Amino acid sequence: MTFSKKKLLHIQQKEKQPKDISHTILIVDDEPLNIGVLDSLLKDCYHILKAVNGYDALQIIQQNTVHLILSDQQMPGMSGVDFLEQSILYAPYAMRIILTGYSDIDVVVDAINRANVYKFIIKPYDTHDLLLTIKRALESWELQNSNIQLIEKLQQSNSLLEKKVKARTLELEETIKQLREVSITDQLTGAYNRRKYNEVVEKEIALCKRYKQTLSMILFDIDFFKKVNDNLGHHEGDKVLQEVASVIKNNIRRHIDIFFRIGGEEFLILSPNIDVKQACHLAEKLRLKVANHSFQCQQSISISMGVVEYLVERNESTEQFFYRADKLMYIAKNMGRNRVICNEYEF
Ligand SMILES: [Mg+2]
Repeated sequence: MTFSKKKLLHIQQKEKQPKDISHTILIVDDEPLNIGVLDSLLKDCYHILKAVNGYDALQIIQQNTVHLILSDQQMPGMSGVDFLEQSILYAPYAMRIILTGYSDIDVVVDAINRANVYKFIIKPYDTHDLLLTIKRALESWELQNSNIQLIEKLQQSNSLLEKKVKARTLELEETIKQLREVSITDQLTGAYNRRKYNEVVEKEIALCKRYKQTLSMILFDIDFFKKVNDNLGHHEGDKVLQEVASVIKNNIRRHIDIFFRIGGEEFLILSPNIDVKQACHLAEKLRLKVANHSFQCQQSISISMGVVEYLVERNESTEQFFYRADKLMYIAKNMGRNRVICNEYEF
């Protein structure tokens, strides 16, 4: 197929298109003459790159952004379909057009399947059709590109949103944790409150039964606390409560013994995994620590304590368990206060 210069000029005028050098077309053909014809036809409208074989063409697309590849099928070494198939790796979004003769029609199906070919053009081609096909292909590229950009933007805003949601969720979780902490903590002493006790005692008894462990309870209150309040005022009374709580917290097993303020001046310790004898030793140690503590109010403060071990064999209720400790604590009071009373031992 040959073109006179005059004819080419005529065609270019007829197909006059706005200059579109923003698009790059790679022409691949083993015949320099064919490349020349296509180049003359397209160079005023597009940025043109040229290669005479598939190998050179692969190099070019690795080094340049190519929007459209126009490749001949019949080339020595590497066929058009083979080249276009490999080009997907380096230019996945480029539009691919293959130029093929009638005798190669079988490769067309192969090309569409393997090489993701947008259109095939049978030689000899009609120039008008070719130019129109290229124009449409580049419009498709633009559409595809704006879709990709849109998807990327969406993905970006999605991941931004996800990050924000994650950060907000963490904040909320932290707030919930703090609120929960407040709801189960006695604000004055920092010990757990009665609500927490009700929750924990059930759980600890269940564990004690399931794993055949021991569970002890130390119940105590501050002796003559009413007098402290009456004589020194509630502010000093509060300080005494805080100091007693602090002495206790510093002398029980961290993360094992659980410490509660269950009433005005009444406190309770749940001690998992120790029997009543060991719990009595712990109680006695605590009693002495409080008795020997120098309180800010400069008064001697003491505590009376009742100690019991949960009786698995009796399948005690929480109330029965507590009631036995309460009874022993009152015995301690009646016996002169500042002492520990338990079933088996008295200190
Ligand atoms: Mg050829």
